[in-house]
Amino acid sequence: MKLTSISALQDNYIWVLSDQEGKCVIVDPGEADPVLKAIAQHQWQPVAILLTHHHADHVGGVRQLKERYPEIAIYGPAEINIPDLTQIVKDGDNLQLLGHDFSVMATPGHTLGHVSYFSFPYLFCGDTLFSAGCGRLFEGTPEQMYQSFQRINQLPAETLICCAHEYTESNIAFALSLLPEDDHINRFYKEVKALRAEKQPTLPSVLATERQVNVFLRTEDPVLQRKVKKDILFQQPGEVFAWLRAKKDTF
Ligand code: ZN
Ligand code: FE
Repeated sequence: MKLTSISALQDNYIWVLSDQEGKCVIVDPGEADPVLKAIAQHQWQPVAILLTHHHADHVGGVRQLKERYPEIAIYGPAEINIPDLTQIVKDGDNLQLLGHDFSVMATPGHTLGHVSYFSFPYLFCGDTLFSAGCGRLFEGTPEQMYQSFQRINQLPAETLICCAHEYTESNIAFALSLLPEDDHINRFYKEVKALRAEKQPTLPSVLATERQVNVFLRTEDPVLQRKVKKDILFQQPGEVFAWLRAKKDTF
């Protein structure tokens, strides 16, 4: 399978996996026009759409794509209340697409019904884990998002994180403000700055790298915990996570 990213809306990425025959799966089409353009350019035949959650910047293009490709299969969690959905998915489901297994993982936090799709090495995690950062908690609790991160962290180190927004630069700036001496974070900050200066995407990112630069995956790191110590008394990893999420809200 080949991975392609399509830039959409303000800072969204719509991910496409395609096989040798040009059959393709589209993830979170927030708008249709750039997808239709890419389909024409690559001569893809869309077979399915995967949706992670109900927000408009992830589902906004579904209607138009369905009109153009009436046979297309559309998968998403029950929270997506649109008539175009052909199959509701839930945690533990397995989909067969392009001859590959896609497993559905519940990853609540950003929204309550948010799911991610994993087909090694690709993880489509919507607005859960961002490169060097974490989605906002619109519906869920910090504890739910923390558990979602723990699940993602159990995937293989080579997993490619295909999240839905280009937020890496501000995320790594936040990480650097917390851990200004950290080698991994400093190196990644420079890489990201250079890529963004050229308007290049910073994604997909590799889980092994996220383990080094994403403070939301480093809640058990003693250096980070010491940093948090002045603000909270007990430092269970879940509490450190909640502290980080609240801090980032006002960064
Ligand atoms: Zn969202
Ligand atoms: Fe989003």
